[in-house]
Amino acid sequence: MYTPSSQGQKELREYMRRELGERPPHGLRVDLHTHTTASDGSLEPRDLVRAALDAGLDVVAVTDHDTLAGVSPATEAAVGSGLRVLPGVELSALYEGHSLHLLGYGFDVSSSQLGTRLRGLSMGREERARAILELLAGIGAPISWERVAALGQGAIGRPHIARALVEAGHARDVADAFDRFIGEGAPAYLPSGRMNVAEAIGLVREAGGEVALAHALLPDRPLDLDVVLPTLRAAGLTGLEVYHSEHDAAATRRLRRLADEQGLWWSGGSDFHGPTKPDVHLGAVPVPPTVLEQGPFPSALISS
Ligand code: AMP
Ligand code: ZN
Ligand code: FE
Ligand code: FE
Repeated sequence: MYTPSSQGQKELREYMRRELGERPPHGLRVDLHTHTTASDGSLEPRDLVRAALDAGLDVVAVTDHDTLAGVSPATEAAVGSGLRVLPGVELSALYEGHSLHLLGYGFDVSSSQLGTRLRGLSMGREERARAILELLAGIGAPISWERVAALGQGAIGRPHIARALVEAGHARDVADAFDRFIGEGAPAYLPSGRMNVAEAIGLVREAGGEVALAHALLPDRPLDLDVVLPTLRAAGLTGLEVYHSEHDAAATRRLRRLADEQGLWWSGGSDFHGPTKPDVHLGAVPVPPTVLEQGPFPSALISS
């Protein structure tokens, strides 16, 4: 069972009273997994903040793919609003040839080493996207790089390519584009992630943060946790994303039990991407607010 330090809990409660009003921490509404236009979300950071306020959230973590570019605009937009923005990042890392997602929290946003590596990852995303376009051209579904680059303002991802495929008439909708062209196993699929899992975890830890494995039990591609978790833990993983839009009740229960048994802190969020993923609503996953008492969150809340 993960036990937060009593000092950490006391500091957190004091912080909550001071900064978030008299509301006890256990009444807070929390979403620790969201995307903005800095990666493949469709809301600008400031619009994410507005949506979070509209949804009645108290704490939101911005966790764009491989970039921190959305964090400071969101933080600035939230000043004086009562909403707390926590810096986060969702890293793609390679594990046995497949891409895994890892969520980092509590790191120093001004770490120059982290910044440099993330810039390299964004450039790698661009190269990968261009390579995917070549594969697409080779199978009769050409789209222009200019259009993809215009759809993605920050870190380029497959959702931008999917939208360009729909616009060009090669796919009916985004889901069809993933199914027939760029999803795992489809002919123009290439994994993202140039780092292996140990490098990705080390990068966040060296910047003072901690890492959770993201959405481990997606219905389409559940991970074999008996194999993956020991490897990741040996590499420094300390948390597990338990609550997620695509985890059903059984998956959530299983992950929560695993986290408790293995002494991992747990986290959760919607994985909100904006209107382009219309079924996923900001704040709609009920994440127990005690999440903030564990792992990297108490100090992240106090220091950010
Ligand atoms: P990338 O990091 O470029 O590989 O893109 C990963 C993102 O693509 C995920 O975070 C999802 O937002 C999105 N995605 C993955 N699979 C699908 C799918 N089958 N349909 C729609 N979006 C997807
Ligand atoms: Zn995404
Ligand atoms: Fe993800
Ligand atoms: Fe995500």
